[in-house]
This record gives sequence, structure tokens and C-alpha cells, in this order.
Amino acid sequence: MYRYSRAIYRDLHPQLLEGQFRPELGQRLLLAACERTVERLARDHRRFARPAAALFDDVRALFPVSRQLMVYDIIEVHMDAALEYLDQEIAERGSADLLRCRATNRKGKACQRVPVTGSDYCPSHRFLEKLQQEKASSSALAA
Ligand SMILES: [Zn+2]
Repeated sequence: MYRYSRAIYRDLHPQLLEGQFRPELGQRLLLAACERTVERLARDHRRFARPAAALFDDVRALFPVSRQLMVYDIIEVHMDAALEYLDQEIAERGSADLLRCRATNRKGKACQRVPVTGSDYCPSHRFLEKLQQEKASSSALAA
């Protein structure tokens, strides 16, 4: 699930206000807001009305006025993708407990551990994420 907060952050951070006294503070606030929103979405997206608008409200002050529409647009695209993924997960797995590790254990059951912050996997399964990213980047190169 955290890949959505990372993707939003990745696309938004180049749009942040420039010439700030502490640029790293803006980046940190932005990342924290993205993670908070995606976590809330993962926990209970049915009771989270208009997540894109909520995140936009949280972070809009970090961006110049001239870029706000673009910022909203970026957030909305990623939120739609995250919601679609959640619906698909619920259809396939019967639940959307996405704050659990994505891996399955040796017995073929879903790992019950809590993922590392910023990852979809727990500490023991974190290597799977690396493998996945390598696969994704090699298929992106091939395409
Ligand atoms: Zn695990």
C-alpha cells in the first residue's frame, strides 16, 4: 500500500515551493501527509470520503498557487489507483487488511506481521519488495 504514498510523494515533491528557509521540512511534511492519508485509506477506505480532497487540504500550503490544480490532479490520479487496488484486493482476498505484510508464509498463509514503515512487507519479507522492484524496473526497460 505504501507504494501509493511513495508514488504521490515522488510526483509532488518537485512541485514544492522553492526558496524556502528549510526545504527539507516541506518534504518531510509532504511525505508524512501522504503516508497518513494512504494508511487511513488502507485501514478503512469506505468511511474515508474524498481522500484526494483531504490530502490536498493537508498539503496545499506547501505548493505555489500556480501549481495547485496540477497538485490536485496528481493526487487524484494516485488516489483513484489506490482505491481501485483496494476494491480489487477486497474482491480477491475478502478483506482489505492492507496494513499487514503482503507475503505468505511457508504454510501458504498470509503473513500477519506489521510492515516496516514505507514498505508493504515486514522485516523478514522485505527482500521480496526489492525483488519486485527489480522485476518492475526490468520490465519497464523492456517495454
Ligand atoms: Zn511478512
